[in-house]
Amino acid sequence: MKFSQNFTKTSKTVSAETESINAQLLTRAGFIYQELAGAYAFLPLGWRVIQNIESIVREEMNKIASELHLTALSPKERWQATKRHDSVDVLMSTKAANDIALQKSTAEYILNPTHEDVITPIAKQYVNSYKDLPFATYQIQTKFRNEARAKSGLMRGREFIMKDLYSFHVSEENLKEFYEMAKERYVAIYEKLGLGEDTFVTLASGGDFTEEYSHEFQTLLESGEDVIYLDRNNNIAYNKEIATPEDAKKLGVNFDDLEKIKASEVGNIFPLGTKYSELLDYYFTDKDNKRHLVWMGSYGIGISRIMGVIAEKHHDKKGLIWPKNVSPFDYHIIALPDAENIQASEKIYQELGEENCLFDDRADVHPGEKFADADLIGIPTQIVISKKTLEQDSVEVVDRVSEKKELIKIKDLKINL
Ligand code: ATP
Ligand code: MG
Repeated sequence: MKFSQNFTKTSKTVSAETESINAQLLTRAGFIYQELAGAYAFLPLGWRVIQNIESIVREEMNKIASELHLTALSPKERWQATKRHDSVDVLMSTKAANDIALQKSTAEYILNPTHEDVITPIAKQYVNSYKDLPFATYQIQTKFRNEARAKSGLMRGREFIMKDLYSFHVSEENLKEFYEMAKERYVAIYEKLGLGEDTFVTLASGGDFTEEYSHEFQTLLESGEDVIYLDRNNNIAYNKEIATPEDAKKLGVNFDDLEKIKASEVGNIFPLGTKYSELLDYYFTDKDNKRHLVWMGSYGIGISRIMGVIAEKHHDKKGLIWPKNVSPFDYHIIALPDAENIQASEKIYQELGEENCLFDDRADVHPGEKFADADLIGIPTQIVISKKTLEQDSVEVVDRVSEKKELIKIKDLKINL
């Protein structure tokens, strides 16, 4: 993409209300736009990051489930049927906004905060025999939650993007088998996102659900909202909300030896058991034609929260620093302003592939401003083209993290990157 065609601009400042580092940097770099507290538009650069995160998640989820797309709106009755209409404290609804619209319809809809209540009736319609079980399906979709505190930028939204997967089984054993497989796929996802080293499978209360524990994926982060109790050597962690000396004992660790450390929840998987099938009368028939409740699991990943977490973890005083796998582009081509450079750069841009490069082709912008923009945007590899480098048939390749600079011959560029 050419910089001159990117309609957003970088800015040196953000409004004083922007408290979190991720919202400050992502807003200044033109990745996101705040529509209201807790709701952000993803601008072209930001949307590419989201798409990269999504494609890593899809790659792993497609190994264990099929993708679908559920509705964001549902009828009130869906949530009444599971008795959650009056108990989920973040539930939001929508209805006609004015008298003219009300004449057409007075219906009130729920803006889904999660989809167990919605997917179960669909599963019930299609899958009623042991022959069709197990199955698993997932989506990547916008969720709505009326969060009280929405001051952490992308890390806590009232509207946010989640990957949610639901699995259906004939027995507890079969659910557990799938659950462990899903856990492994989750570990692979955080690894690919560059968060592997700092992300711990963490025991947490099941919340709404029947089993004793659910498993959270917690990424260590100073600005995270959670505190986990961590035994790094044995790779055991549990969430402060459930952390008692008795829990520690059960896990065979000494409570006082545990590290108490801040983290952000980037995923959560739940063995739901038969909670929803009981509420919604969801049975399957076995080979003897006997009826049994269906066993279920649900598995979430905070796609947009992850973008916020990465921004919080990977930046310096000049701006963002994207890990390669999620960076909006692989290369940031900086053509220093003079016509000859721009032309030579255009060739390099074509050669490296338009899809892979952000090409700063602006002819009327001072070099200092171009460098500052590139550092703020945070693409990991910068390619600087100037009169000086061209005299040596070369470009300067700059690593955004180490700031290491290397002069590379244009003819050797592709093999050297
Ligand atoms: P939290 O404890 O942070 O409020 P949660 O436990 O209510 O989150 P889940 O229902 O487990 O959230 O949702 C699955 C995943 O979606 C979470 O692990 C998190 O990564 C993400 N998520 C949840 N709420 C938000 C939010 N308000 N904004 C952004 N991401 C969120
Ligand atoms: Mg959770």
